[in-house]
Amino acid sequence: MCSESRANQFESPEAYLERLQRACPGRPVPDAREMERRSRIPDALAQGTPEGLPSPTSEDSVRVYSQALESAQATVPTEQQDACEYMLLKSVVDDIRCAMERAGLSASEEKVVFGTLNTGDPNALVISCPGGGYVIAVNAGLMTLLYLISKAVGLAIETTVSSDGEISFSVPRQMEAGSKGEHGNALERFAEAIYCCAKLGDARRARRWFPTQSALVWGGLLTQAAERFIVSHEFGHVLQGHLASALTAERHVGSETVTTMSYSWEQEGEADIVALGLTLGTRLILPGFSAHFMGIALLFKALEFYLRGLGLPTHSASHPAPEWRLESLLLGAGSTIGSPVERAIRDATALASLLDSMWRLTQDTVGRRAC
Ligand SMILES: [Zn+2]
Repeated sequence: MCSESRANQFESPEAYLERLQRACPGRPVPDAREMERRSRIPDALAQGTPEGLPSPTSEDSVRVYSQALESAQATVPTEQQDACEYMLLKSVVDDIRCAMERAGLSASEEKVVFGTLNTGDPNALVISCPGGGYVIAVNAGLMTLLYLISKAVGLAIETTVSSDGEISFSVPRQMEAGSKGEHGNALERFAEAIYCCAKLGDARRARRWFPTQSALVWGGLLTQAAERFIVSHEFGHVLQGHLASALTAERHVGSETVTTMSYSWEQEGEADIVALGLTLGTRLILPGFSAHFMGIALLFKALEFYLRGLGLPTHSASHPAPEWRLESLLLGAGSTIGSPVERAIRDATALASLLDSMWRLTQDTVGRRAC
């Protein structure tokens, strides 16, 4: 009780960030070059330098290869090693596989293995295995970033539950008008998630806090949807044959050289469209696909704020800007699917605009160079 009342007491993002700075005197803030380097997957992958990784040639080469990655710096969660991450990723993957089955899709004759990879970059990637098959690796810190932002959203929005159990929400007007109003706590939580991810390298360094009921519901719903989109997007690259084409690139994982995407805007767009389809096929509550679209909006906004927090442009040679990807998916879904997703698109647009307001109200502190 004591900690809950403390947590609800408003401490400005500025004050909190100063506290964070004092708490980590030995950790220098990365300079601009370091931040730029960290924002790119290939170099971030090269941080570890393990010796003597095996070159898999056996029949079960995907598993061997994923173990090789693990010994580099990836973590392929197993039931015994990390029950939480194992269950989380397994439930996401199982749900997507069911959606694929319902849609009559098959990823590939070849095996796809899932795991987490501590790249320090809030992203996922798909790696082609030398002996066939793929590793889809998600940076574990990404899930924490999404969960923390989702919970902050749950603190900010006003939720109502109708007599037949339908959940709906409204965006606080004060925030849209540029005022923090009663929402200092939500903004503080939002700011510290982005700050810890962009400036300290890992959202998992943010304080853990016990959610209110609304934060718990929205935190779960939006994170689940975003996770499904992330994993589906990497599946999308496999389904579209992007790694089977000549357009691949070599990257380093320690002493190991891996083959992954060459990353083109066109391929990113194709994978997004597949991911949208697969995510809509997964089973989340909230009527009319609202949770699905809102989770996708939250993901792209989180990526956008992360890049803005780093002081980087939001688009790069490899990836279109997250805000453009979101806009193009919402427009595309509106024009191709139409009325079944109209409300969901409205809800996702309202959520995106709430997140924009939260960013505007906190960007001065999140964007500040600290430590
Ligand atoms: Zn991609």
